[in-house]
Amino acid sequence: MKKWETCIRRVEPYTPGEQPQGTGIIKLNTNENPYPPAPGVMSLKLNAARYRLYPDPTAGDLVRELAAYHGLSEDQVFVGVGSDDVLAMCFLTFFNSGLPICFPDITYSFYDVWAELFRIPYERKPLNDAFELKAGDYYAENGGVVFPNPNAPTGIAADMGMIRDILEHNRDVIVIIDEAYIDFGGESALPLLEEYENLIVVRTFSKSRSMAGVRIGYAMGSSTLIRALLDVKYSYNSYTMNTPSIALGVESLRDEAYFRETIEKIVTTREWVKKELSALGFTFPDSRANFIFASHPEIPASELYRAAKEKNIYVRYFDKPVIDRYLRITIGTDDEMKAFIHFLKDEITSRS
Ligand SMILES: *Cc1c(COP(=O)(O)O)cnc(C)c1O
Repeated sequence: MKKWETCIRRVEPYTPGEQPQGTGIIKLNTNENPYPPAPGVMSLKLNAARYRLYPDPTAGDLVRELAAYHGLSEDQVFVGVGSDDVLAMCFLTFFNSGLPICFPDITYSFYDVWAELFRIPYERKPLNDAFELKAGDYYAENGGVVFPNPNAPTGIAADMGMIRDILEHNRDVIVIIDEAYIDFGGESALPLLEEYENLIVVRTFSKSRSMAGVRIGYAMGSSTLIRALLDVKYSYNSYTMNTPSIALGVESLRDEAYFRETIEKIVTTREWVKKELSALGFTFPDSRANFIFASHPEIPASELYRAAKEKNIYVRYFDKPVIDRYLRITIGTDDEMKAFIHFLKDEITSRS
């Protein structure tokens, strides 16, 4: 090994889902929304002459629109390049006590990657056999708490009682609730911001707003926490949000009817898929998100994953203990889900 090689930071990166290119693919593997973004986003004329200039470092238009949308003040909103950027900034800003932070053992697999990257000690708290969070695991002294609600990849939502319980036992550290999927079901912790100034709620435009490619995420919390996030951001890169993203984000927020309609379609399809999967013998937690985490009692998930891929249907398979028995299936359009269920029926009959 050359001496300079010892200076290189070694990290084990997060592995995102496959992004196959081409046509005729049914893509149910990265929880993208199958419907287009709001019509106003689709038709927005972007003023390219403006690209000569740096973007507004405060992303003021988007922050104002988000604050109004959620009934918060502007100093309670922080925006970033997808919620991955926002969550990474939160880890960097809030988890500095030296004590281990806590998150579930089965959860968004970026949390341990950021903890490693920023050298934050962490402990994974096991879910129960039904894949539910156990509030008691988060009572002991720690360096902070982070979990998604609904959780990924299980889709299970924690109820308000559990969220309050965790907040009550963690008044001295920062608690981050990652609400990437909250628009599809579950109860938001947003109303609790008034009571807990150590709470941060993170959301994204990637799933419910069909804008994964635009990269918009945001955090909401007390002005003290948002100020701290801004200070870290301005110490790192003042211009995270680009000019088109800011304008496109504002447009999306202005069409509440389209937003509601799209979510309702996905939820209706999800409930139909649950019935079909049950009829085929699959078991799965009762998902409140835009995906279902399903296991077949006889056919290994790895085999179903590969067989589906042969047919140009992509679902997510995690080659990790316990969850390797499951497929995470994103809810697509009705036609896509019919094709997927049809594939499963064929696969199951061909094996029996
Ligand atoms: C998708 C997802 C994110 C990140 O989404 P962005 O595209 O970076 O906004 C964050 N947390 C969870 C739990 C997710 O599933």
